[in-house]
Amino acid sequence: PTLSNQIAAGEVIERPASVVKELVENAIDAQATQIDIVVKDAGISLIKVTDNGNGIAADEVELAFQPHATSKISSNQDLFNVKTLGFRGEALASIAAVAKVNLTTSTNGSRGVLVQIAGGQQLNKQTVAATKGTSIEVKDLFYNTPARLKYIKTVNTELNRIIDIVNRLALAQPQIAFTLINEQRNLIRTSGNGNLQQTIAGIYGRKVAEQMVSFEQQTSDFRIFGFISLPQQTRASRNYISLLVNNRYIINYQLTKALLAGYGSKLMVGRYPLAVVHIKMAPLLVDVNVHPTKREVRLSKEAQLIDLITTTVAAKLQQLNL
Ligand code: ADP
Ligand code: MG
Repeated sequence: PTLSNQIAAGEVIERPASVVKELVENAIDAQATQIDIVVKDAGISLIKVTDNGNGIAADEVELAFQPHATSKISSNQDLFNVKTLGFRGEALASIAAVAKVNLTTSTNGSRGVLVQIAGGQQLNKQTVAATKGTSIEVKDLFYNTPARLKYIKTVNTELNRIIDIVNRLALAQPQIAFTLINEQRNLIRTSGNGNLQQTIAGIYGRKVAEQMVSFEQQTSDFRIFGFISLPQQTRASRNYISLLVNNRYIINYQLTKALLAGYGSKLMVGRYPLAVVHIKMAPLLVDVNVHPTKREVRLSKEAQLIDLITTTVAAKLQQLNL
């Protein structure tokens, strides 16, 4: 790989969890209904993501690994109206630059193609029998970028980051069945039946999910819905708050504050609720071109949304007489 490829790779591929995120987002964009993730050594030696989505046509596989090649947007206009999770065309090229990648994909469920790439160099391409969808194995991450490898923390830390990412992706997509397996141990399993509360149960446990209460509210610009915990069901960190804009997990301090404001003085100092807040709005009102990881987004009419979240949560808790 060229140096610039490796530098660009660092922007989106910081650590194993970034690989998991990018591969799973691709599977989601490919309309998968089942996504299975297997990792070893917290993703350093292996990350394998298998989906039953649309697959990649045999003659487009090389293109998919080219930097800035995306099949998801075709004009500058589309950049302001992004409906997919990916659109920059950077992830596969970046991952293939810093790891050994085997990709098997099929658009029809009988014939497929297998490509092997290491350090950005294609080693092999052959026709294989394959089921519909795509399976990507990423091995020996950062094997050719020792500085990046050194920056990786303990196996525990990296595994927790992977679990956190998959949790959010699953909460964002209740209609997709997810599994996450590390060293033969099943860490996450969601049913994919579209039921948000059951998805929450698959992630935080049934008891936790059953104690949460649902909310829903609509204005001309937004529809918000989801589940929040009661003021006495709290955690010591904000990590159990998930904001999902058009099924994309985002980080937004103002919206998190708006949620907390809905609880007002009902929360003890240093305690945070569990919450899964889905926000639906026109893609034109969401600017995802803020950061390469697309975690931070710019929202038009943010003030109205802040107000909507606070008042909806406050009304819900009041309605329950809490
Ligand atoms: P982006 O997602 O921004 O388009 P990527 O580098 O992540 O860029 O992927 C490049 C292209 O490869 C995608 O646009 C898509 O056409 C194809 N692709 C990647 N992963 C999958 C997958 N799991 N299923 C189908 N197509 C895929
Ligand atoms: Mg992508």
